[in-house]
Amino acid sequence: MVDTTVKGRIAICTSCGAPNRVAAGKPLSAGKCGKCSQKLATPKPVDIDGAMLERLIARDTGAFVLDVWAPWCGPCRMMAPAYEAAAGRFADQVRFFKLNSDQNQEAAGKLGIRGIPTLLAWEDGSLIANQAGAQTGEGLARWIQSTFRLSA
Ligand SMILES: [Zn+2]
Repeated sequence: MVDTTVKGRIAICTSCGAPNRVAAGKPLSAGKCGKCSQKLATPKPVDIDGAMLERLIARDTGAFVLDVWAPWCGPCRMMAPAYEAAAGRFADQVRFFKLNSDQNQEAAGKLGIRGIPTLLAWEDGSLIANQAGAQTGEGLARWIQSTFRLSA
């Protein structure tokens, strides 16, 4: 069923930062950036920096998750495979990003991160969920589903 009340959404390309309009109901993973031709969504988490995060928060109207992590953090590394699996499983609905808090301390500070890993979820420009601590496997998948109201 086509919902004509939804005009689609703006997806910021994390390769070049350009805004792209994505038609309602069209899977994000099928879209390419009109400016740089990179895919708008991949089945793997994408590393972004603080500047790109600000752009996403300000302009992107889709659904995305951010994993705030650091290379020295054991629980972060433990969660990484589950995060990658979730990125593959939900690639059509949600984009998955990672922010290295060592390299982006100012951005992590602005987010009010108290510990890592922390997962943050945005939808339509609003922060809708915030989950501190490592989640693995099905627990992480369930959190994504409930946060974005996705069916199993
Ligand atoms: Zn682009």
